[in-house]
Amino acid sequence: MPSKSLDDLTPEFRPLAEAWIAECRARGVEVCIVTTLRTLEEEQEKVRLKFSSTLKSKHLPQPPSGKSDAMDLAPYVKGTHNINWDAGPGWRKDEDPGKPGTPLDRKHVFEPWATVAEAAESVGLLSGARWHKPFDPGHGQLIRSPHSGQ
Ligand SMILES: [Zn+2]
Repeated sequence: MPSKSLDDLTPEFRPLAEAWIAECRARGVEVCIVTTLRTLEEEQEKVRLKFSSTLKSKHLPQPPSGKSDAMDLAPYVKGTHNINWDAGPGWRKDEDPGKPGTPLDRKHVFEPWATVAEAAESVGLLSGARWHKPFDPGHGQLIRSPHSGQ
């Protein structure tokens, strides 16, 4: 099973991940952690099932800590498990989700996922609401500077 532990996040990402969760709550959306760290075997299975299109996922162990630079959150609704975005209105593959730094188009990213995605970007993360394959609004990942040597 993939990890759900904050202890499996890189030291650089963890404070931002915690800020993301706090920001969701501050905006009125309670969230649960779906995944932090995945093994290569777990990632290969996700690619096989087409839940992921890459074997370069930031959920995989990142050097040097061997921990994750990404986290998946899901809105938590009392009395239910959680809300799967597949159950809600989707995203047309021909439509442009926009670039980080531009407002998310709420015509396409629906609540409560829009709040989760906007909260991620408000603390400086890259949201999976910005890509199509697959559309992944509960995903947030650390943006590392190309000049940081990491
Ligand atoms: Zn993810």
